[in-house]
Amino acid sequence: MATAPTASEAERLRSLHGLRVLDTEPEEPYDGVTRAASMVARTPIALVSLIDAERQWFKSRIGLDVSETAREAAFCAHTIVRPNEPLIVTDALADPRFADNPLVVGPPHIRFYAGFPIRDREGRGLGTLCVIDREPRTLDDRQLDVLRGLATTTERLLDMRRLVVELDVGGRETSDRLVSEIAQSERQLAALLEPSPDPMVRVELDGRIVAVNPAARRAMGMSPEAMRTLRMEDLIRAAVPSEAARERFLEALRSDEPVELEQVWVEPRVNPAGWYRIRIIPVAGPDGTTTSHFLVGTDVTAAVQAAEHLASLALTDPLTGVANRVAIFDRLTHVLSRLERGRTSGVAVAVIDLDHFKVLNDTYGHRVGDDALVAVAEALLATTRSQDSVGRLGGDEFVIVLDDVESREAAQDAAARLERALNDIRLTSPTALVAVSASIGLKWTDHIVPAEDLVSQADNAMYQAKRAGRGRVWVADARADTGPFDSSSTLLRDLAAAIDREQFRLHYQPIVTTDGRVTAYEALLRWQHPVHGLLPPTSFLDVLLSSGIISPVGRWVLDAAARQAARWIEDGVGVQSVHVNLSPMEIGNPTLPGDLTDVLGRHGLAGPELTIELTEQALLTSDISTSALDELASVGVRLALDDFGTGASSLTHLRIQPLHAVKLDRSFVSGIEASATDRSILAGVIGIARELDLDVIAEGVEEPVQHEWLVAHGCTHLQGWLHGRPAAVDA
Ligand code: C2E
Ligand code: CA
Ligand code: CA
Repeated sequence: MATAPTASEAERLRSLHGLRVLDTEPEEPYDGVTRAASMVARTPIALVSLIDAERQWFKSRIGLDVSETAREAAFCAHTIVRPNEPLIVTDALADPRFADNPLVVGPPHIRFYAGFPIRDREGRGLGTLCVIDREPRTLDDRQLDVLRGLATTTERLLDMRRLVVELDVGGRETSDRLVSEIAQSERQLAALLEPSPDPMVRVELDGRIVAVNPAARRAMGMSPEAMRTLRMEDLIRAAVPSEAARERFLEALRSDEPVELEQVWVEPRVNPAGWYRIRIIPVAGPDGTTTSHFLVGTDVTAAVQAAEHLASLALTDPLTGVANRVAIFDRLTHVLSRLERGRTSGVAVAVIDLDHFKVLNDTYGHRVGDDALVAVAEALLATTRSQDSVGRLGGDEFVIVLDDVESREAAQDAAARLERALNDIRLTSPTALVAVSASIGLKWTDHIVPAEDLVSQADNAMYQAKRAGRGRVWVADARADTGPFDSSSTLLRDLAAAIDREQFRLHYQPIVTTDGRVTAYEALLRWQHPVHGLLPPTSFLDVLLSSGIISPVGRWVLDAAARQAARWIEDGVGVQSVHVNLSPMEIGNPTLPGDLTDVLGRHGLAGPELTIELTEQALLTSDISTSALDELASVGVRLALDDFGTGASSLTHLRIQPLHAVKLDRSFVSGIEASATDRSILAGVIGIARELDLDVIAEGVEEPVQHEWLVAHGCTHLQGWLHGRPAAVDA
């Protein structure tokens, strides 16, 4: 640069020269920084460059042979002009500032440059940490963050250097002088360190503590006199309980290299204990050998605790400590990506649901229920291999992701082991010995499938296990998933004839507003079986679906529900809509909009008197498009997203345009009391749904506390045994 140096440039240079760093030998901490920078940025070149009056000089360099270049050509000289932001040049040839730069047109042929300013305490740019590539490119956010952090580290290193240099002023030829120097440097040290919020201590090689700043005195809760009588070793022994940490600490006090102990748990005699980052910097005597060490501690307790808390909140289930819903899906996605890259032979998902858990809870109390969940988690952890993962979906439902499972048979063996381990659990309560049993659904795959699909198939298999009598493993697609009724073809025939024989019934369950008014009913299908009595849909729905009888039954349900809706509207009892459940298969049926229009016309309804409940599964499995939903909505009916929060949930589904309401799944509502995770997920979902102007209906409300919590958190409607069981209209 040909321009005369400005006053601030003169100050900047004074600050740089005060470091006495120019033309010194390479040093490990700086080389560590450039090594890390080139690794993180994946660049062949990384430099710590300092900008001198006429040149840039490299304190550390990787991938470059020269130790300095002219300042005129230095990219870094541009970077320090704005010392508070990095300078990123994605393609130097395309940048008029650099296109004809000698370092671009000649060696090292710079195309990409990212420089992070290194400042002194006053914010003056002394130089940069920079990475350079010979190809045009960019950096992602994580790389930018790490590089910024490395630049800060370099700033710290230089600050430390300044302190040490300023302590070492003057020659030390005679011992007299040495003594006075030390006295002086201690005064200087005191003056320098006095205002620092970080505890700082200087320790002689023999362990004597020779300088202590007030922050250190406060941290240790000791008078300076008391501290001076101590040797550092005693202090460490008294305040650092971990033997491993003590050893590293003592070793650092013998080292000729600066050492940083990232997290040391310190328990001072009087003060509360906490985490400290401790830097130990050797101070060299006149002959270059280490004479003492300079210790700087930074209280990082808050940061460590916040990080731990966040990490555990975000990823583990607070009751059992196993992975939560988010973490286990994450894990599954990761394992599936390994499958995609051929890194694993096969993946299995087991969904585990405890049998009669509600009865256990109600009989023995929540304490025993919680104990059971913890015992189950422990048994699952003990029975799985290190590459497997255990997660809790909420309530009494667990998921296991089994990695590297060669065959369906191997998966089945693993699931059988899980089942046995759960059967072995015994809990003692004051009144009884409690045993646990579980239904396990298993799905194995050796090809890539969406994580949600795997879990939902395992989940369906789990329901099959329940229906087949609980306490067993059911493997998805091992044979036709038709359940226990399938064995009796007469049942299938009976089912086919049930419409004509008028054996289907609709039961209605009230949906109430927060102040208890019934504004809607959900129609729930029942089969009045001549031999088995009144059957709930869970015992025959799968047969209906797999046999194709669902279509005529679905049309019957729509017709019956619409007729009832028309009656309630006519009676003027305040009912505005009747909810009807449609299976994914029915939602995907192209004749549905036409069928709906017919039904509405037949009963003189405008549309909103019917609400179609569809599950997320319908959105995922059938290739129903947004326009098909639009078509449904344009018929005039309302749409509600059912079972929200189960396996396949995604908040993006809330944004589906013609949606009117979302129904929070019962498993969440049942977790309100026990699970902080369920509560926070619920609160979040309710918030977003309200933001999108959707009605929020909570399902399975059984307890007044659940009702109160849901109302307090913005639910608009409630449904569950607390407000009314499903019943025939005349009941
Ligand atoms: P769903 O849509 O989630 O319906 C709610 C289920 O929860 C109903 O079971 C209801 O009886 C039950 N329930 C309501 N409140 C409570 C409560 O406070 N506690 C507990 N523990 N349970 C409660 P249901 O009647 O056995 O129906 C099961 C499922 O069958 C329904 O789940 C729905 O997916 C399906 N379904 C019902 N009717 C039809 C239908 O007409 N067509 C189709 N495709 N599916 C139907
Ligand atoms: Ca429903
Ligand atoms: Ca539901």
